[in-house]
Amino acid sequence: MYLKGVGPGRAAMLEAKGLKVVEDLLTYAPFRYEDRSNVKALRDLAPGEMATVIAEVRSSKTSGFQRKNLGMFQATFTDSSKAVLVGKWFHGAYLADVLVPGLKVALYGKVEFDSYSGYLGMMHPEFEILAEDEDGDSSLHTGRIVPVYAAAGKVTTRVLRTLVHRILEAIPQTDEDPLPAHIRERMKLPERMSALRTLHFPPLDSDVRLLNAFRSAAQYRLIFEEFFWLECGLELKRAKARLLPGVPFQLTDRVRERIKEMLPFHPTGAQKRVLAEIAHNMSEPHPMYRLLQGDVGSGKTLVAAEAAIIAIENGYQVAMLAPTEILATQHYFYLKKLFQKLGYVTILVTGSSTAREKLQLKKLLAEGLAHVVVGTHALLEENVAFKRLGLAIVDEQHRFGVEQRQKLMTKGDGMAPDVLVMTATPIPRTLALTVYGDLDVSVIDELPPGRQPIVTKHVKQDSVEQVYSFMQEQIALGRQAFVIYPVIEESEAQAQTKAMKAAAKMHEHLSVVVFPTLRVGLLHGKMKPAEKEAAMEKFQRGETDILVSTTVVEVGVDVPNATLMVIEQAERFGLAQLHQLRGRVGRGGEQSYCILVTEKLGDVGRERIRTLVDSSDGFYIAEMDMKLRGPGEFFGTKQSGLPMMNIGNILRDADVLEIARNEAAAFVAHPPTEDDLKRVVTFIRDHWQRRYGLVQVG
Ligand code: ADP
Ligand code: MG
Repeated sequence: MYLKGVGPGRAAMLEAKGLKVVEDLLTYAPFRYEDRSNVKALRDLAPGEMATVIAEVRSSKTSGFQRKNLGMFQATFTDSSKAVLVGKWFHGAYLADVLVPGLKVALYGKVEFDSYSGYLGMMHPEFEILAEDEDGDSSLHTGRIVPVYAAAGKVTTRVLRTLVHRILEAIPQTDEDPLPAHIRERMKLPERMSALRTLHFPPLDSDVRLLNAFRSAAQYRLIFEEFFWLECGLELKRAKARLLPGVPFQLTDRVRERIKEMLPFHPTGAQKRVLAEIAHNMSEPHPMYRLLQGDVGSGKTLVAAEAAIIAIENGYQVAMLAPTEILATQHYFYLKKLFQKLGYVTILVTGSSTAREKLQLKKLLAEGLAHVVVGTHALLEENVAFKRLGLAIVDEQHRFGVEQRQKLMTKGDGMAPDVLVMTATPIPRTLALTVYGDLDVSVIDELPPGRQPIVTKHVKQDSVEQVYSFMQEQIALGRQAFVIYPVIEESEAQAQTKAMKAAAKMHEHLSVVVFPTLRVGLLHGKMKPAEKEAAMEKFQRGETDILVSTTVVEVGVDVPNATLMVIEQAERFGLAQLHQLRGRVGRGGEQSYCILVTEKLGDVGRERIRTLVDSSDGFYIAEMDMKLRGPGEFFGTKQSGLPMMNIGNILRDADVLEIARNEAAAFVAHPPTEDDLKRVVTFIRDHWQRRYGLVQVG
């Protein structure tokens, strides 16, 4: 379609914003609306309110340095009410040629009293020039509820508004609607074209507050639709994966007895429920891809061990992958202890095993003499062969992608092994299903009994002495303490700045100056694996009182006698990470403490720390973390598979996402007719795959 007003220059800028075809512009949702149907006269403005006004530039001046836009630009505006409003822009010298006297503009911003001039004013108001130009037709831009778009390069909101309007004029009115009719009718959703028209140009009587909350009927329908396609796509992908051949593990009485034999305690209700989900999944003749979510200390590893028994008793081998060597080592010891009773052979393969050891270990695996192998991802890279790999357990999905999963498939003796991914970064279930795409999700939402809540305190760096004396008291009671420093590990060595205290240096300070009589251990990423292991074991056996460490203890360490976790420079850690670190204590019967030591904090920093002090609910903390950091950063942007949305926002619209997910699951499982399903598959392939890069839906 040829679009008047889009030459090569604008086309390039639009394209850079992902706006390539007419459809893209149609679904480019305004991020805000202004009611310019009934704008306030300048005379009626009051300080403190957010307001849109339409006024004319009366005069302007730039003060300060004019070069490099360093000056402050100030313009006075007036309207028919004859009152005056002052607009100020720092670094605004360039505006001298833009906001010229006589120009009519719409201004949007917070009204404040400008004591300097004695008038009401706005600091850095958004503005839009309302003069006639080639993008003409001022009736689009005033006298109505006006959509405000994010600019695309130099293509302003005003130009975008005109372009979208032209498109809407040009395309024929159709009632074609890709959303299945029965869903649309049941949910009373407006039709697509009329929803798009009202999205961009809401009728005069619309509620602007509702629009700005993204909850008008039109917006709701479009948000729902966007999520519905996404969830259908994921559902179809999942359905397809479920058709691959996998191992149908038998759940015999013997398997049940062996599990009972292994268990050191009664599983919690949540552990039982989750094991049932996993066991059912494993018994099907298709591969399992399941995410096991649970807060720190909820007992995921125990459930993983139960799943391992199912595989082993069926004559298969189990691989457990951990993101770091130290974690692999810890898992190894934990599983070895549990499995010894059952007579299973558990081995550990890491980068630091010698060539000869490796050769031997590999032989054990290839011949099926080892039942369980624990290792880092190196297990996948190297030419490790299994006799019959049946189950892969992966600790921490963040570092485990599709590619690694494919590598695993090749080790499964023709059959795809089952995959269980454990994560301690809990996020709401629907979100997890969306973000982790084709994984099913199980959640352990209960902690083992007898856990006392951990008391969390925030202490400023200059009061750190208090922390040390508290530590002394705890140790006098026979307990142990962690002290964590945010020294960045291995590859990020360069990121170490002067401001950061090196853990080694602190270790010396603590052991020599502060606690000369105590036994202070050190653990950091630069140590040799054997040294790390030794340091860990000494702490585990209670032979050191204080373990000074970088974040290597982040996941997995289990020392019930440790009751105090001190995190220095806590502001440098992510919330979820802090929560996981805190989970290293509170594992025994004694009251445990977590102390977050920080420098002086800004507003966001204080809010983050307060979240932890106030809550011990990992789901709540993860949600706050997402809100404070934004979902992109939280999930690690594109790597996460988090799709880019046009209008839907998985946080703001979590409720709609939930509904869309349920509708999509029901639709894919029971489409009214096969034709309906085909139509949806074709639609997703044609419209949606391109946008979200979802491959192989059909
Ligand atoms: P996660 O991996 O989910 O953080 P772990 O599997 O490390 O949690 O378990 C935390 C601690 O709780 C371990 O010491 C584990 O042995 C113990 N534990 C697990 N399940 C139970 C249970 N049902 N009852 C009592 N203790 C349990
Ligand atoms: Mg664990």
